Amino acid sequence: MYDPRMRQKALELLNEGRPVAEVNRRTGIPTTTLYNWRKNLSAQFERVLATCPRCHDRPVDEAAYSYLLGLYLGDGHIAHAPGHKGVFRLEIACGDVWPGLIDACADALAVVMPGLKIGRRASPGCTNVGAYSKHWPCLFPQHGPGMKHTRKIELVPWQRAIVDRRGREFIRGLIHSDGCRTTNRVRRTSNSGDRRHEYPRYFFTNASDDIRKLYTDSLDALGIAWRQNSARNISVARAEAVALLDGFVGPKY
Ligand SMILES: [Zn+2]
Repeated sequence: MYDPRMRQKALELLNEGRPVAEVNRRTGIPTTTLYNWRKNLSAQFERVLATCPRCHDRPVDEAAYSYLLGLYLGDGHIAHAPGHKGVFRLEIACGDVWPGLIDACADALAVVMPGLKIGRRASPGCTNVGAYSKHWPCLFPQHGPGMKHTRKIELVPWQRAIVDRRGREFIRGLIHSDGCRTTNRVRRTSNSGDRRHEYPRYFFTNASDDIRKLYTDSLDALGIAWRQNSARNISVARAEAVALLDGFVGPKY
């Protein structure tokens, strides 16, 4: 009935304590409606925030979305919620050895889809962070039958645009799900004695050619050198490239 952006704007202004007349002037929403909204602001907020950025044209936090997309392409899946027609559950498997990543995942979900109840389901060695919504396929159109590596994975234009603007967060999400930062320690013996060298490296392993390509395209866009380590594994090993990744990824925690 009202432009969703204006509706959100109006609720924010009312929440700041602005007079109804001013909010009406700035949003065009009738004062009678504004008075009604002001009576139960928190319920109104919940209703607006639980809407879908795609279906309801609600602005999405691009940094959080890009990170979440990386996590989803790595270790996420979307399934029908049994017994609830049209409802889906998105789950992202997070290893229990990195509690910080479990929290980062839950935080990103809460920012992208505020108002949803975010659950943590334990399975051996990992915690599945997830939430129910009818709109997961809108946010992740890569959803489809079968495993991700058995089908074509392509970003749709609006996702492409976000990943282009938020490549660092996308790479961070991919590495947090299917990558790691390791340190190779090498000892060399020479006449002058033993010398130890440490080589930090990043690895990313995914069975999908398309997802690996999304990863390496994003690295290319940021000028980060990589090489194909084995059929499914991409390594970033050059010191300056590792330093660039350290600037926005770092070790898992
Ligand atoms: Zn939707």
